[in-house]
Amino acid sequence: MFHFPALSLVLLPCLALAWSGAVRAEAPAPPPDVSARVAAVAPQVREWRRDIHSHPELANEERRTATLVAAHLRRLGFDEVRTGVGRTGVVGLLRGARPGAILALRADMDALPIREATGLPFASQATGLFDGHEVPVMHGCGHDAHTAMLMGAATVLAGMRDRISGTIMFIFQPAEEGGPPNMVSGARAMLADGLFAREKPSAILALHVEPGPVGQIQVRPGPFLAGSTDLSIDLTGRQTHAGRPWEGTDLINLSADIVKSLTTISARRLDLVAYPNVISVGSLKAGLRKNILPGTAEMRGIIRTFDQDQQASIQALIRTSIDGLAQSYGAQARVSFTDSTPVTRNDPKLLDSLMPALRAAAGVAGVDPNSRLRGAAEDFSFLEQEIPGLYYILGSTPAGIDPAQAPTNHSDRFDIDEAVLPVGVTAHVLSALAFLDAHHAP
Ligand SMILES: [Zn+2]
Ligand SMILES: [Zn+2]
Repeated sequence: MFHFPALSLVLLPCLALAWSGAVRAEAPAPPPDVSARVAAVAPQVREWRRDIHSHPELANEERRTATLVAAHLRRLGFDEVRTGVGRTGVVGLLRGARPGAILALRADMDALPIREATGLPFASQATGLFDGHEVPVMHGCGHDAHTAMLMGAATVLAGMRDRISGTIMFIFQPAEEGGPPNMVSGARAMLADGLFAREKPSAILALHVEPGPVGQIQVRPGPFLAGSTDLSIDLTGRQTHAGRPWEGTDLINLSADIVKSLTTISARRLDLVAYPNVISVGSLKAGLRKNILPGTAEMRGIIRTFDQDQQASIQALIRTSIDGLAQSYGAQARVSFTDSTPVTRNDPKLLDSLMPALRAAAGVAGVDPNSRLRGAAEDFSFLEQEIPGLYYILGSTPAGIDPAQAPTNHSDRFDIDEAVLPVGVTAHVLSALAFLDAHHAP
């Protein structure tokens, strides 16, 4: 049962830390029965991770992955397995021996249009169709690890039904990264497809691998990941000869003023002490040649914040500023805000109640409960619009590499230390058990 690879996966990071002198004598540990079950499934989790890694699928194309997941849940004797939820999502229900609350655990399954350059023996050779173009595909955000870890947690928890009060909903979500423009992300698609229509969990938990000390859990109460909104500005005016700008509207000059005004809003009109924010224009298109002042111009950008109210006031300030500038040039401006992803935040009470479980899972690597804010956005936030959520980061930088120098998520060289896999399985298992124990039926 405890053959060597399983033991080495679990023990190596602990030994490495012990040798570095960072070990704390009182480091919490999982109960022995959970440790034994996780150790037993760890080699399989690593195999799943490698298999999924070498067969990555783009958003909404996760058919092979979904088939693998659904077959696994059925083999485990899950009470219900639903497929095709929100296109390719899989939902499994595992009922415990006693009644109680429902808790959801979520993993994302999609890969990215990236040509892999890790040089791993199981590196991706796959291609896929993105927006009508054939592109290389890679698990460059670690969703292969997320899927494998939640499959491992399913194995462990299915073997512990006697110990479970209530129901665990396993959500394998497609398209977290979003698909081509105009396609809603996987969380929204699953919700629209009735994810919580029949059974509404009391809470939902998810984790994400990221560069950091192996097995360290990083989390914080309240806002954690940014909310994101797309910004579109379309300008129209009167086209004219560049030598006679007074006969038309100089949209090039106006565009420059608008870009400057947006960064001024960010730096001068908003409370940066309360919450940071970013407004960026990433695309500016205007004009064809040097001696024509164009009659149209367009700008596309993003707004990132950590506070929903701040998002609303930013939008109001942007409208006021652009309307004023356009008027001063005699031009018309159309401003729109679309594709808004809410802030991903951690319910403070939920985090508090699950902190012992997270500490036990992280062991000597520990939990950082006041981790920094992250500028990335997550569609997990849509699930949190329905029920309280907890989202935490699992440090996963391969041993011997400085996390600050490690290729980050979405890099073509992003990789994880597989020693993190049993830590993630343990975190899922312990947090699910802790939540259901605290919410069991009277
Ligand atoms: Zn990503
Ligand atoms: Zn991701």
